[in-house]
Amino acid sequence: MSSTAKVAVIGGGVIGCAIAYNLAKQGCTDVVVFDKGYLAGGSTGRCGAGVRCQWGTEMNCRLALESINMFEHLNEELGYEYDIEFKQKGYLILAHTEKEWEQFKKNVKLQNSLGIPSKLLSPEEARETVPHLRTDGMLGATYCTKDGHCNPHHTTWAYARAAKRLGVKVRSFVEVKDVRVKNGRVTRVITTGGDYDVEAVVNAAGAWAKPVGEMVGVDIPVYPERHHILVTEPCSMIQDPMVMSFSKHIYCQQTPHGSFVMGYGDPNERKDYDVGHTWQFLETMVDTVLPVLPILGELRLVRQWSGLYEISPDAQPILGETPQVDGFYMAVGFSGHGFMLAPVVGKLLAETILDKPTSLDISMLDLGRFERGEMIREPSVV
Ligand SMILES: Cc1cc2nc3c(=O)[nH]c(=O)nc-3n(C[C@H](O)[C@H](O)[C@H](O)COP(=O)(O)OP(=O)(O)OC[C@H]3O[C@@H](n4cnc5c(N)ncnc54)[C@H](O)[C@@H]3O)c2cc1C
Repeated sequence: MSSTAKVAVIGGGVIGCAIAYNLAKQGCTDVVVFDKGYLAGGSTGRCGAGVRCQWGTEMNCRLALESINMFEHLNEELGYEYDIEFKQKGYLILAHTEKEWEQFKKNVKLQNSLGIPSKLLSPEEARETVPHLRTDGMLGATYCTKDGHCNPHHTTWAYARAAKRLGVKVRSFVEVKDVRVKNGRVTRVITTGGDYDVEAVVNAAGAWAKPVGEMVGVDIPVYPERHHILVTEPCSMIQDPMVMSFSKHIYCQQTPHGSFVMGYGDPNERKDYDVGHTWQFLETMVDTVLPVLPILGELRLVRQWSGLYEISPDAQPILGETPQVDGFYMAVGFSGHGFMLAPVVGKLLAETILDKPTSLDISMLDLGRFERGEMIREPSVV
């Protein structure tokens, strides 16, 4: 015998949990979230959890700005008994090449036009913001105090707990093996914990978006890419903003506990499901981060790990219902910035599934844009 649910969400990362909570908040509580592992055990729990509205495309700026406005009140909104640790300490993004600097001038103009309070800084002004920053060869930086970082485990759990209180069922360690379609509409999910008759299915499977799409015969152009990250021992608080460089492929933040978390986006990284880590990554970090932030060479490494980016062809998410199968929705392809978009995506997907007008027009993020050749590539990614 099968169980029933109105909506099945595949994926218990921050995206799946945010969608489930928003569905319940908007009145649809007959929702079940499946994760083949534990909550936040995919990319979410492995991420840097930086949150920024300094983007290069209008859509990403709008999504991120709205998300940050929501992060500012998320503890209260979700009635979370702990703290998601959202700290707005800013992002300082460094320009080391002429091309980058020209792009940053355009970015700041766009961001300011949308109400994002970012600004261009000279190398000297950047050093006033981060006194241990070495500015040799730097042309300038952009800075925005609205940006910050958060705790990805707490955030996911805050969403999951709030969703459960509203009636959502969360089934960890249950894998969705197949999704059945009848007359062009999803009807059933087949899981390791039994079958469910459903009216809608949400693909929030992160780096596994493509195999989940294949269950209903839809080709989703998202692939996994390994990204390494490390954490140091804690020290006294010396750095407020996240320091980031696109041309050097690095980001580095000091967490509220004093540890530094930093990562490198290797352009030649593996594009499969391997999440092993390498010695080479540590050498690369020494070669790329220490010339910019030399004082960090005094810290000892505590741990390194890696996780998967879920890359789409234009580095922007794919959101909404598939044109091919009714009732099959996607919130995938976040390309390394899905954590920060979770609050707004949760709300927008719930509105879409419940057939309400969306509070932001996301029609340009549909799956069809790739076939139509209407991609706008996000330039500001690590
Ligand atoms: C090193 C690193 C650093 C990052 N830094 C940042 C950052 O600073 N800021 C930012 O915004 N983003 C960052 N990201 C990206 C961010 O982690 C992701 O975009 C985000 O977590 C995506 O969330 P998700 O819920 O879609 O995916 P996930 O967290 O991966 O969740 C998907 C879940 O689906 C489950 N699943 C898959 N298939 C099935 C199935 N068949 N049945 C049941 N369950 C299934 C998986 O077990 C997984 O838990 C980073 C990522 C990495 C790897």
